[in-house]
Amino acid sequence: MIREQLVPRGIIDPAVIAAIEAVPRHLFVEDALQGQAYGDFSLPIGDGQTISQPFVVGLMTQALHLSGRERVLEIGTGCGYQTAILSMLCDKVYTVERVKPLFIKARRNFDQLHYLNIICKFDDGTVGWAAHAPYDAIIVTAAGPAVPESLLAQLADPGIMVIPVGSRASQTLKLLKKKDGIVSEEDMENVRFVKLIGREGW
Ligand code: SAH
Repeated sequence: MIREQLVPRGIIDPAVIAAIEAVPRHLFVEDALQGQAYGDFSLPIGDGQTISQPFVVGLMTQALHLSGRERVLEIGTGCGYQTAILSMLCDKVYTVERVKPLFIKARRNFDQLHYLNIICKFDDGTVGWAAHAPYDAIIVTAAGPAVPESLLAQLADPGIMVIPVGSRASQTLKLLKKKDGIVSEEDMENVRFVKLIGREGW
């Protein structure tokens, strides 16, 4: 997966590669799908949701340029695969999921695999998680019509955010950087994510 799908497409940060190497992706999908876990595609994880394609996980993770000291907010825990990778690259991950069975499943995965620096919440993540703000980095793994204002407000200065934004059918992965009170925005890749549903989403 790493040699054929990630490195040729520019996922080359050694720390990111090491984290992806260390997280057993097959343990985050259902038993029947384990044989496909390392394929070049997303997979269903139940409740109409998906685990992202490995390349997209690599791309979003690498874009955050984590040094190990950050406090990261993730919206859309899903099965927890992306969360687990982030947890190896930063100090703490705060992750929010709005679908109860997925929230429960992810928390069980973190316990069983001993990811100890992940804090989970069952809630609408479009309004962020104010109690622990600001966050050095924010990653959103579902796509809304616009960047939620609450997330921008909870982003530290300096801070970095990666989020897919667009219509229901197609979206652009955006990289936002906050510095000296100014937010800059850069388009990364055309992507297709499940819907970000909530107060500041769809
Ligand atoms: N990173 C996940 C991807 C899961 S798909 C993984 O590796 O498995 C996106 C997830 O975002 C879904 O689980 C969906 O339920 C969740 N989601 C959608 N809108 C949300 C919201 N407003 N708050 C929190 N989670 C949300």
